[in-house]
Amino acid sequence: MIRIFFTRISFAMLMCLVCMSAGAQDTIKAPFNQEVWTREYAPFRIAGDLYYVGSYDLGCYLITTPEGHILINTGTVGSMPMIRAHVEQLGFRFEDIRILLATHAHFDHVGAMAAVKAATGAQAMIEAHDAPLVADGGESDFIFGGRGKLFPPFTADRLLHDHDTVRLGNIEILVLHHPGHTPGACSYLTTVHDDHRSYRVLIANMPSVLDETDLAGMPAYPNVGQDYAYTLDTMRHLQFDIWLASHASQFGLQQKHKGKRYHPAAFIDPRGYAKALDALDERYRKKLK
Ligand SMILES: [Zn+2]
Repeated sequence: MIRIFFTRISFAMLMCLVCMSAGAQDTIKAPFNQEVWTREYAPFRIAGDLYYVGSYDLGCYLITTPEGHILINTGTVGSMPMIRAHVEQLGFRFEDIRILLATHAHFDHVGAMAAVKAATGAQAMIEAHDAPLVADGGESDFIFGGRGKLFPPFTADRLLHDHDTVRLGNIEILVLHHPGHTPGACSYLTTVHDDHRSYRVLIANMPSVLDETDLAGMPAYPNVGQDYAYTLDTMRHLQFDIWLASHASQFGLQQKHKGKRYHPAAFIDPRGYAKALDALDERYRKKLK
């Protein structure tokens, strides 16, 4: 997810950043980058077989099974070496990643997915509404589109729909279609276990509204306003123990983790989740006016 921070950046500034970064990448022109998106953050075990392998701010999640691993989100275009190093530091084989999932098809979450897919042979499973976006590298994005490829494109090997189940080994993941931020944005619900108990985990795509979004309807996304309303409502009713999100800053990862080795209870925070939804709902209502 492109965070609320990003909503404060004007389009003029975005274009400026595009120009400044144009020399750095030949074909990929992500509108901007934040330093915290690529800043190192040591990988750690969140709960059971669920691990954090992302950067300081971009949430990338590894779920391990005896049949191979699932990776949710890959960060920006150059993030693959970081993710590989994190997976290996935790004692797993990067090549054992079998399934790739995304919380939504923006350049800060699927930037390295084509590279990871090529390196591991993993199956990319993408919600059907975001499949055209990953296939054209974000060129058809309803906000950022029309300025070339924003990330290396790739093909979805399986199209996901609301309430589909993704299975690998002993892990089952429920797909929750939470559209708005992109048409195919998704959250994921799964259960992991350690020696003491099981944890129902929500990896949420928090429905932040970008400044450039016209909730009355965008040419490439006429139902965007209705989709946000649906997502804000349906996310209120989810039942889970642990809450994580596309961006570490959305759920206060650093404040909760505090560098501890293993402390799943730190991520049990229903009140924080409700407060975050309240803030997003307020912003949605302001934008409606
Ligand atoms: Zn985004």
